Amino acid sequence: MTFPKTKKKYGQHFLYDLRVIKRLIEAANISKKDVVLEIGSGTGLLTRQLAENSEYIYSFEIDKYLCELTKENLSNYSNINIINTDFLKYNLNKINEKARLKLVANIPYNITSPIIEKLAKNRKMFSSIYLLTQNELALRMKAKPKDKNYSAFSIYCQYYFDIKKLFNVSPKCFHPWPKVNSTYVLLIPREIPPYKVISEDIFFKVVKSVFWGKRKMIKTSLLKSPYLDKVNEEVIRKVEEKIILNKRPDEVSPEIISEISNVIFQYCY
Ligand code: SAH
Repeated sequence: MTFPKTKKKYGQHFLYDLRVIKRLIEAANISKKDVVLEIGSGTGLLTRQLAENSEYIYSFEIDKYLCELTKENLSNYSNINIINTDFLKYNLNKINEKARLKLVANIPYNITSPIIEKLAKNRKMFSSIYLLTQNELALRMKAKPKDKNYSAFSIYCQYYFDIKKLFNVSPKCFHPWPKVNSTYVLLIPREIPPYKVISEDIFFKVVKSVFWGKRKMIKTSLLKSPYLDKVNEEVIRKVEEKIILNKRPDEVSPEIISEISNVIFQYCY
């Protein structure tokens, strides 16, 4: 197959191994009843297979040239809507479907975090989310305390989604080859949060603060981070009545951070 010239700024790495494409679809258990959303139709190989196997597919593509090309190549299918826009800017409320959607996509790796954030905000419209992404990001999504990949991003992802690693995909299955390994992950939106958080806004500010200090004790980070202007020595003493703060960020679980944030919220806000 000949590929169009790729644009690096759009993170274009096209899948061309049909066996891998079929594996992605099989793992997502797509059936003719499913309405599917795809981010980045690219040259449309995955889009075509999704259309063959699902009821209807909405596919977003930012690159106008690719969008026209793929629309033309897939013009035989009446169940595909290719939308030429930036997925990150699109208002997903415009998609009016009764049942929850599945998302299956080989996403542009350079915008994985903003994509996840957008999906988290709109999680109620999805039954399951299958993403082919950079292995390193997949490790960060799933990481637990003590793991070197444990970060604010891990806590964010795990708060909104139950995450499963499915399988790895070699760089050789893409054109051009990415410099990184890829992993297919499943994100299932949680119906209820995994632990009690009184204010999500304050919780995620506390999460960012804890990791802001890198290897610093979290007590110092909570005091000094730019995200929490109301936290002073007195607030710290209040938190310390319940929770030990002389710890490094990789030693504290999300549950403990939620407890810290609940005390801060009740005391300061
Ligand atoms: N799914 C295709 C293409 C993957 S490459 C395949 O597997 O072959 C990622 C695709 O996402 C590219 O086609 C790129 O142009 C598109 N893309 C990048 N940023 C985007 C954005 N913000 N919104 C929609 N599409 C985007």
